[in-house]
Amino acid sequence: MTLNQLTAHEVINLIGKKKITAYEVMQDIFNQIDRIDNSIKAFLVLNREEALKQAKEIDIKVKNGEELPPLAGIAVAVKDIIATRGTETTCGSKILKGFIPPYDATVINRLKEAGAIIIGKTNMDEFAMGSSTENSAFGPTYNPWDLERVPGGSSGGSTAAVAADETFVALGTDTGGSIRQPASLCGMVGLKPTYGRVSRYGLVAYASSLDQIGPITKDVTDCALVMKVISGHDNMDSTSVNLEVPDYLKSCQAGIKDLKIGVPKEYFIEGIDPEVKDALDKALKIFEKLGAKIEEASLPHTEYSLPTYYLIATAEASSNLARYDGVQYGYRVEDYEDLSSMYQKTRSEGFGNEVKRRIMLGTYALSSGYYDAYYLKAQKVRTLIKEDFDKAFSKYDILITPTSPTPAFKLKEKVDDPLTMYLSDIYTIPINLAGIPAISLNCGYNKNNLPIGLQIIGKPFDEETILRAAYNFEQNSEVEKKKPEMNFPQQKSI
Ligand code: GLN
Repeated sequence: MTLNQLTAHEVINLIGKKKITAYEVMQDIFNQIDRIDNSIKAFLVLNREEALKQAKEIDIKVKNGEELPPLAGIAVAVKDIIATRGTETTCGSKILKGFIPPYDATVINRLKEAGAIIIGKTNMDEFAMGSSTENSAFGPTYNPWDLERVPGGSSGGSTAAVAADETFVALGTDTGGSIRQPASLCGMVGLKPTYGRVSRYGLVAYASSLDQIGPITKDVTDCALVMKVISGHDNMDSTSVNLEVPDYLKSCQAGIKDLKIGVPKEYFIEGIDPEVKDALDKALKIFEKLGAKIEEASLPHTEYSLPTYYLIATAEASSNLARYDGVQYGYRVEDYEDLSSMYQKTRSEGFGNEVKRRIMLGTYALSSGYYDAYYLKAQKVRTLIKEDFDKAFSKYDILITPTSPTPAFKLKEKVDDPLTMYLSDIYTIPINLAGIPAISLNCGYNKNNLPIGLQIIGKPFDEETILRAAYNFEQNSEVEKKKPEMNFPQQKSI
């Protein structure tokens, strides 16, 4: 076993006890990346020299007996939609090729202050629009459990990197499921925080009223550790909320005897894979065994979530993406006649098909005469969806659902059929519309050894309870803890 295969909390413990050095750990991380990333293609950019240097600095601190910050020496991979000072940030798009942000996002500052080491930027669907990481301008990422399958998306690079032991932790972003769905398809833990819990300063906007940054980790303990570091009020983001950040790890230690769990009946729709349903039923039995009370719940407006999301998200995206005009950032065509032809050609060449489709949809939904019929209506339905959750949470502490209707699907299987692709997020999207927190964690495997995920949804700002439920399940689930085999042919370094 190599050190990159451990969890973050195991590494923190061993570095603190001087059993291993941060430098050795970082070497194992980069060895693994060199060995397999040509097959997985999780990373767009690596920060090798700086990362090894920072690891040495942590070791000096250990040697001098200095107190270590909470994530000292922990490798973190960052989805390429989060600004990193001095390191190219492309959002998986040709239009931002060559864009080097002059500042770090707040989450990056917080991670660095906590001693974490940013090892690189990860692949993603262009501007976070997608569920498979096939919409990246830089080619797809492959699922470490089966290279013929997608890792999910849009945070597919981040999640595949964690699953393939190329990093301990990754940051993803979740607008409609992009942390939880890939976590489910790669057998990892992914948490979408309550809207306002984690600062969005330095996160390139896709749909501002839905976007949140969150952690992708190997287990719930690591998730709780990272959440503690990245959460909390930030003066640079007026939508971040000034609420105390609890000690998530400590809250995990309590049991779940007191918990009332609702299982929304609307989530067991036609199209759910029977093996997913089976894994969920087995998981619910574990919760019951641990003393939780389980009842059927109802979220009656669930069926309107997808259309509501695809109106609101595309409307916001059409406005947010107007800034890529060839003047301020990244790519600009060389041949053009005048200013408007420069805009037109730059945007035509710079954006991929899915992004263009969404800009058109969103512009249409916001255009005069259609605004009331589409955008305004969608906002009203969004309120109804949110009220469904409010009602459910007056009875239950958490809700449990599958994360994704199917395990990982094959590359190209859904890419030409956007509506089928959009269905991948049917269980995750309502949560973003309601602004509430949810975590996905593994609850089993199908007969092809592909991971299956379970989603735990919580009340606003009650990340503590979903982490506690997830932790108790993880500790007591009878599911074997597996890793992908990854016997890929020896690769050259990247
Ligand atoms: N798959 C959804 C979409 O394409 C969600 C993406 C996300 O959460 N960033 O919009």
